[in-house]
Amino acid sequence: IQRFGIEKWSEGYFNVNDDGEVVVHCGGQTLPLVQVIDAARQMGLSTPLIIRFPFFIGEQIKKFYRAFEHARKEFNYQGEHKAVFPIKVNQNRHVIERLLHYGQDFSYGLEAGSKAELFAVLISDTPDDALITCNGFKDRDFLDLAVVGKQLGKDICVIIEGVEELEGLIEIYRRAETIPSIGFRIKLSARGSGKWEKSSGEGAKFGLTSTEILLAIDLLRKHDLLGKVNLLHFHIGSQITNVRTMKRAIREAGVLFAEIAKLGLNIQYMNIGGGIGVDYSGSKSSTVASAEYSIEEFANDVVFTMEEMCQKHGLRRPGIVTESGRVIAAYHAVVVTDLVEIMGAEYDLSHYQPTSNLVKPVVELKYVLDYMNEKNYIEYYHDALEFKEDLRTMFTLGLCSLVDKSNGEILFQEIVEKTIEIALRRGENFERDPFLRKFLAEKYLCNFSVFNSIPDSWAIRQLFPIMPLKHLEKPCDNFGVITDITCDSDGTIGAYQSFDEATDSEYLPLHHEMDDYPVGIFLTGAYQEVLANKHNLLGQMNEISVDFDEEGKLEIVSSEQGDTVKDVLNDMRYDDAFINNQAKKCFQGLNNPKLFRRFRSYLNSYTYMTKDPHE
Ligand code: PLP
Repeated sequence: IQRFGIEKWSEGYFNVNDDGEVVVHCGGQTLPLVQVIDAARQMGLSTPLIIRFPFFIGEQIKKFYRAFEHARKEFNYQGEHKAVFPIKVNQNRHVIERLLHYGQDFSYGLEAGSKAELFAVLISDTPDDALITCNGFKDRDFLDLAVVGKQLGKDICVIIEGVEELEGLIEIYRRAETIPSIGFRIKLSARGSGKWEKSSGEGAKFGLTSTEILLAIDLLRKHDLLGKVNLLHFHIGSQITNVRTMKRAIREAGVLFAEIAKLGLNIQYMNIGGGIGVDYSGSKSSTVASAEYSIEEFANDVVFTMEEMCQKHGLRRPGIVTESGRVIAAYHAVVVTDLVEIMGAEYDLSHYQPTSNLVKPVVELKYVLDYMNEKNYIEYYHDALEFKEDLRTMFTLGLCSLVDKSNGEILFQEIVEKTIEIALRRGENFERDPFLRKFLAEKYLCNFSVFNSIPDSWAIRQLFPIMPLKHLEKPCDNFGVITDITCDSDGTIGAYQSFDEATDSEYLPLHHEMDDYPVGIFLTGAYQEVLANKHNLLGQMNEISVDFDEEGKLEIVSSEQGDTVKDVLNDMRYDDAFINNQAKKCFQGLNNPKLFRRFRSYLNSYTYMTKDPHE
């Protein structure tokens, strides 16, 4: 059974069964993903498809809360723990609804970073005692919306990013006679670790400097509003690769906390932001696609350091607010794509075309192929690399024909295959030779868009675990690179989860020649859908949600159609009237209503490749 390191990166949510299929695991029940795909197909929803498992959000919330509860007991920490989910991680209504459902026992709150996000938060069913935090840069409308939220009875904290924001809030307060709680986002010199470390440090985009904090306090004192400040916030970046950076940040924030307390402020919460990393590569290391600590270790370190810093500065224990979203949402979504074709080198000696006048590199390559043996194969293989390069140069200079070039490439391919055959016979690991791997790796063209489904893979080379969803009972007999259907050479995945070693891989072991080959891209529930773009107008994918039904059985609970041609055109401002007018104009004088209808019917076609022709 081929496992693709699944037990290392799936947190136990996914596994492979004895039939070689990936299964989802929950509450003692298992369900093969291929069954979900079949059910979706019967509902008219073909791949590519997002499958959501909202109960994993629930499981992650439980894990997270329990870790903090355990740590609070362990270190006898008297402050409470409150969590909010930053909806920028995934604003999808169904996701937020299920998150609030699973989080209600823990009074899970939400964080908003823009007006639209705050509006979505305010109309969500957050529990009465849940905290709502507002981050990001805020105009008057944003601040006013927060004040309305307060008037609706929500426990809202506006986290101030600058003194001007505070002035705006005070102005609204004087009119509305009510004001939400106020938090200060502080700028720390401690930096996070990993790809998002720029979120902190002295040059960071966010946070009040010492001078700004003093100015803000003066302003609040002047309006008799000092009592409204109840939270200090920092965020040292998403996907922290090692937890020591968080400890350093808490210690630094502790000093500020103590200084601010001396100025007469009664801060009740320390909001440590997000940061918990997801182990995408399954390597449990401090590399960027991984995290070398568990949620439990993170919680222990945070609570211990908070206790330590309160003892040191003689402070009352503040409540700890967390804003982690990635680790809560990442596991719940899987993108399922399907193999369209394997784009490999499909030629052999039968394609060789004899010529009367052989050019030198071709003569040499022929010699290498004929005389390569167990003793000389490494040396001969290296020679062949050189002859192939010579041939390429000759062709570029116009010194040989296309037939010569093709003959040379065919011979070279045969040489590589012979090299591997000999290496295997001798029990040597040819896979370690990066050139051989690269040469052998074939492009697996899959029906999806990197830009739409895993934009972080393109933008910042983030890694997502990928594997076939069936046929895993058979050994992999090929190497592949997953390529999407966009007209863009960046639409290729360049890094894959690690298997045996702590290094990521550039190629994925895959199967040759498969008709029905669904491929899953895992851990895509955080950020990917929201950062997605419409490159090539490949829009949102079909969606299906699997959750527990009322009897506690795993069932498909909802589905959502993906974008049609018309949907994506509408998004780009081709409104219906414009489309109609232009289409009519194109067909003017043709007098072919049948063709016109056929043309128009494509507006309802799924934007991705479909197996069944449209008509
Ligand atoms: N809070 C703030 C202020 C953020 O900017 C972010 C995202 O970077 C988060 C929370 C979410 O953090 P994470 O992605 O680590 O869950």
